[in-house]
Amino acid sequence: MTRIGKITAGINELPAKFASLKVLVVDDEPFMLDIVEEVLGQLDIKNVICTESSRQALEHIESSPEAAGLMICDLNMPGMDGIECMRHLADLQFKGGIIILSGSDKSLLDSVGNLLLEHNLNFLGALEKPVTKAAMAAVIARLSDSTFKSSDNYSGLQMLTPSEIRAGLKGDSVQVAFQPKVTVTGRRMVGAECLLRWQDPKRGLVPPMAVIPVAEKHGLIDNLTMKVFAKAIEHMGEWARQGHEPKISINFSMDNLKRYDLPEMLSDIALKGGIKPNQIVLEITETRLISDLAICLEVITRLRLKGFGLSIDDFGTGYASMEKLKQMPFTELKVDRAFVFGSNHNPIAKAILESSVKLGHALGLVVVAEGAETKEDWDMLVAQVCDQVQGYVIAKPMPADELIGWMMQWEQ
Ligand code: C2E
Ligand code: MG
Ligand code: MG
Repeated sequence: MTRIGKITAGINELPAKFASLKVLVVDDEPFMLDIVEEVLGQLDIKNVICTESSRQALEHIESSPEAAGLMICDLNMPGMDGIECMRHLADLQFKGGIIILSGSDKSLLDSVGNLLLEHNLNFLGALEKPVTKAAMAAVIARLSDSTFKSSDNYSGLQMLTPSEIRAGLKGDSVQVAFQPKVTVTGRRMVGAECLLRWQDPKRGLVPPMAVIPVAEKHGLIDNLTMKVFAKAIEHMGEWARQGHEPKISINFSMDNLKRYDLPEMLSDIALKGGIKPNQIVLEITETRLISDLAICLEVITRLRLKGFGLSIDDFGTGYASMEKLKQMPFTELKVDRAFVFGSNHNPIAKAILESSVKLGHALGLVVVAEGAETKEDWDMLVAQVCDQVQGYVIAKPMPADELIGWMMQWEQ
C-alpha cells in the first residue's frame, strides 16, 4: 500500500502508453514549473497544465475530474499549501496519481505519504528537488497496473443490506476463488487461500468487504462462513480425487469462534469430504474488538487440537497484534500487505516486515507475506527470508477449476 520515500534512482524512459497522460503541475515557483514541464517533455509527456497555486489546480479538477491523470504538487506554497490541497483533492475523489515535490525532510514526507493513503488518494511517491528525468520516470511508472485501483481501495463501496445477504445465503450467491501461495525458496505452490466471491443477482460480483462486516454485525457470519467452508471442502475433494492435495486457507472472523461446537462441526464436514483437518489452515481476522474472549480461546485451542492450522491474518494491523500471538496457538503468521507492497521504498514498512519475519520464526511459525505486487516486493521477501508469498506478483485469485492447471504451469 505504501509509496513513501523519496525517489533517488530511476529509469530512462516510459512505455508509449504514458504519452497520452494528462498532467497537472502545481508549484508557486514559475522556474520549477518550467523544469518539471521540460522533464516531462523528455519523457514524451506533452499534455501538461501548469498552475502556480493549489486553488487554480483544484478549480481545474473541479471543472472536470478527468482533467488530469496525474498531479505533481509542491508542498510549501503560500496560501493553500500542498497538504491542505490534498484534503480537497480527497473530497473531490480525485482518482489520478499524485506525486509530491519537495525539499522537505524525509520524516515529514513519510507522514505526508501516510496522510495521502489515509485519504484514499493514489499516492505514487515524493520527488526531491531538483527533479531528474530518471527519478520522474521511475515514479510515474508506478501509475501502471493495479496501483491505479487496488482492492484495498474500498472508498465508495456499496455495502449489501442484511436482507440482501439473507436472500443470497438462501440462494446461490456464495462463490469462492483461490489465490496461490508459493514458497520463496523452491517457488513451489504449497497452498491457496479461499476467498469469498459474492455473486449478487442484481449487483453482480460484490467485494468481500461489502459483505463480511454487515454479516458480522447482523449475526449472519456463521451461516456465510460455513457455506464458504463447505465450498472449499468440495473443491479440495475434487482435487484430491485428481491426486492433488494443496493446503487450503479459509478466512474466519473472530465472531465465528463463539460457538463451542465449531471444532466438531468443521472436522465433521472436512472428514465427510475426505479431507484431514491438517490440510486446512484457518485464517483468523479480527476486524473489531471481540467480546467473549474466553470462549474464542477455548474454541481456537480445540481447533488446533483437532489438527487445523491457524494463521493470524493481517498481522501488524487492527487487532492482529503481538498480544494475540501470546494468547493463541497460531501456526502461521501472515504479514499484512501494508508492510509488503512497496516496502523497499519505505524504511518503516521494511523495518516492520523484517521484525515480523524474525518474530514469526522465533516463535516457530510459518511466515507468509501477502499483497506482494512487484518484482521489487518479491526481492525484498527473498532478502528477508520470508517462507511463503501470496500476491499479484505470483497470481490473482482465480476460479477453482483453474488452480491445478495454474500450479502445473507454474511448476514447469
Ligand atoms: P485477506 O484475507 O487478507 O485476503 C487477501 C486479500 O488481498 C484478498 O482480497 C486478495 O484478493 C487481496 N490481494 C492478494 N494479493 C494482492 C496484491 O498483490 N495486491 C492487492 N492490492 N491485493 C491483493 P479480497 O478477496 O478482496 O478479500 C478481502 C478481505 O475480505 C480478505 O482479506 C478477508 O479479510 C475478507 N474475506 C474474504 N473472503 C472471506 C471469507 O470467506 N470469510 C471472511 N470472514 N472474510 C473473508
Ligand atoms: Mg486471509
Ligand atoms: Mg490478510
